[in-house]
Parts: sequence; structure tokens; C-alpha cells
Amino acid sequence: MRQRIAVVGSGPAGLTFARVLHRHGHPVTVFERDPGPDARPPGGTLDLHTGLGQLALEKAGLLAGFEELSRPEGQAMRILDPDGTVLRDWRPRPDERANPEIDRGQLRDLLLGPLDVQWGRGVTQVVPGTRDGTLVRFADGRQEAFDLVVGADGAWSRTRPAVSPVTPHYTGITSVGTSLDEVDTRHPELARLIGDGSVGVYGANRSLVAQRNSGGHVKVHARFRAPLDWHAGLDLADVEAVRSRLLALFAGWSAPVLELLCHGADFTEHPVHVLPVSHTWEHVPGVTLLGDSAHLMPPLGAGANLAMLDGAELAEAIAAAPGPGELDQAVRAFEERMWARAGRWAQITTAGLERLVNPDPAEALAHFDEVQPS
Ligand SMILES: Cc1cc2nc3c(=O)[nH]c(=O)nc-3n(C[C@H](O)[C@H](O)[C@H](O)COP(=O)(O)OP(=O)(O)OC[C@H]3O[C@@H](n4cnc5c(N)ncnc54)[C@H](O)[C@@H]3O)c2cc1C
Repeated sequence: MRQRIAVVGSGPAGLTFARVLHRHGHPVTVFERDPGPDARPPGGTLDLHTGLGQLALEKAGLLAGFEELSRPEGQAMRILDPDGTVLRDWRPRPDERANPEIDRGQLRDLLLGPLDVQWGRGVTQVVPGTRDGTLVRFADGRQEAFDLVVGADGAWSRTRPAVSPVTPHYTGITSVGTSLDEVDTRHPELARLIGDGSVGVYGANRSLVAQRNSGGHVKVHARFRAPLDWHAGLDLADVEAVRSRLLALFAGWSAPVLELLCHGADFTEHPVHVLPVSHTWEHVPGVTLLGDSAHLMPPLGAGANLAMLDGAELAEAIAAAPGPGELDQAVRAFEERMWARAGRWAQITTAGLERLVNPDPAEALAHFDEVQPS
């Protein structure tokens, strides 16, 4: 008899898991809190690395689809100092495919394909070890039982408490994002500043990063060290008030750089939270975690990649298990592999964030010189 498997969350981790299981002919139920795929703006762009996100897509049989949609030119990166001087201007070779960019919405649609997601099914609690198996409780009061429940429900996971009491903590660094449309026609000066991929401007304890998505859309992130209540007395929905506060925070930076903050129609705050580096737990039969719910780390280009590879590897391990008796063993072995890999990346990204938002901006440049191919 087939095992009853459910995954909570339809982000990169949950969808990759479900898609790879689907490829192996194994049924899986996907529960997602959002009422539909377009209920929220999908977010910005993701660079998928060859040995991580791209490997996961290969396991899902979706690499060709990714190659059609992704933007290799988006690997270009410029580094400026706050007075606008160009310090680095990396451009990918025409055949460079190490980290092409793809819009999150395009990636989600590619992964969704034939999957039948149960939208509007917010999970409130996961209870392993009941007579029927692992119980999933929903916000609408219903409940269902499975042999394995996979928590892919992100930073504030409702599945995580079933295996671990740990919750994310604030890093002391906040990011405020905005976006620009039709940048090439409406803001040609900014289009030149950004180039084909992204531009990063690094000052003392703060940075501005702008990144192209497809179709002339650009996401801008202002990052700075601040207490969680940095906006006390400020209405975050008041666009002009937030803009003024940000311009004051970046006072002294050159006017062409500050233009990045002058045109967005709204601002979204993302305080950077993380789980402890090397977060692990005592294995609990019938439930496990993937992606951010297992190893939330600074947003430095690894989280979605790891989430997808977690999903693909767990699905393959389940598909390869000879029978129901071996399911738990397959999950245990997968957890050990995931923890080791995530621990390494959590160390890298934690150190990276400290260098990118640093009292000495030379640290940021040194970081890029180390990670960027010359
Ligand atoms: C600004 C920013 C930029 C980033 N850039 C990159 C990048 O370039 N490259 C990269 O690799 N990573 C990047 N990341 C990190 C990346 O976004 C995350 O690591 C990745 O999305 C994690 O995937 P996930 O599927 O684990 O979780 P999520 O993407 O958070 O998905 C979780 C899903 O679960 C659903 N959900 C949540 N709670 C419930 C519930 N109770 N019941 C049912 N469903 C629920 C959510 O609605 C969501 O659909 C960035 C992050 C940020 C904030």
C-alpha cells in the first residue's frame, strides 16, 4: 500500500518535493495557506546554482524549462561606493550558466505544472504519533492523518514545533524593499546604473542593492543595522514618510544612487531573522522539515537553492525506499545529509551578512572579490 504523504507549503521546497515525487509516480498532498497561486506578489528574482537549485530542477525533469526562462545575463554585478564610483563591474561570459536568474513567479509556475495544490488550507498544528499516524490540523477546524508530514512552510513554520522548540531570532539587520517598473524607458539613468543584473552600493552599516527581474522590473533593497522597532512612530503604509526616513538614513550618499529610493510606489519591511547555525533535532517518526522551516539563514542567494535540493533529495529517498517499513529510515538518512549541507551554508551566509552590512565597507568589497569569479 502507498504511504500517505503530505507537504505543508508550496514554496520552492514544497513544490520541488511534490514535483519530484510526482515524477516518480508517488501521490502527495500539498497544503498551502494562500488562497491561490497569485494571492500575493511572488517576490523578486532567484539565482539558481548549478550544484543546488539547478540540480534539483534536473531531478524534477525541469532543467530545459528553466534554461528557456532564466536570464544568464542577470549574473552581471556592479559594485559602487556611496559617491557613485564604480568599484567592480562583473559581466558573465556568453556561455556562463553557473547562477542564472529566474523570477520567483516563473519558477513557481514551472514547478506547479500538473500538481494539484490544495489552496487556502492553512495548517495550525502537526501532531505526530497518533493512532492514525501524523495528524494535520487546519485553521478551518478540519484535520487529516498521514504516514509522513513534511513541513516546507517557511520561516514561521507551524510544522517545526512537532520536532523542535527553536524559533527564529532577529539578526539586528533589517531590509526595506521597493520596486521600479519599466526601468529602461521610465528611468534610463537608473537602468544604466543597475546594468544587466544587479548593483550593490555599500556604506558603513548599510547598503542599497537593486536587481533586475524580467520585463524591466527592478527590486531595490535598503539594508541597515537597526533595532526591530526602528520604525516606531512611523506608519509603514505611508510611502512618503518611509521614503523620507530611508533618505535620511542614507544621507550623504550621491544623488544618482539615492534615485533608487525615489520612485517606488510602496515599501515592504523584512527584518532579517535566522535559525541558529546547525539547527538539528531528535528525529521524530512521521514528520520532517525542509528549506527555511529547517534552516532559515540570511538571504544571500542560498535559501531557495537549498530548499529545492532538500525537496528533490527527500522525494528521491522516499521513491527509492523499498517498502513502507523503510520510509522512516530514508527520512532519517535524508535529515543527516540536509543538516550537514545547511550547516555549511548557514556559516557562509551568516559570515557574509556580517561583512556586507559592516562598519567598514571595504569588507563588503573583499567579500565579493572572494565569491565572484574574476
Ligand atoms: C529578500 C530576499 C531575497 C532572497 N533571495 C534569494 C536568492 O537570490 N536565492 C536564494 O536561493 N534564496 C533567496 N532568498 C531566500 C529564499 O527566499 C528562501 O530561502 C526560500 O523561499 C525558502 O523556501 P521554502 O519553500 O522553504 O519557504 P517559503 O518560500 O517561505 O515558502 C513557504 C510556503 O509555505 C506557506 N505556508 C506558510 N505557513 C503555512 C501554514 N501554516 N500552512 C500552509 N502553508 C503555509 C507559505 O505561504 C509559502 O507558500 C531570499 C529571501 C529574501 C527574503
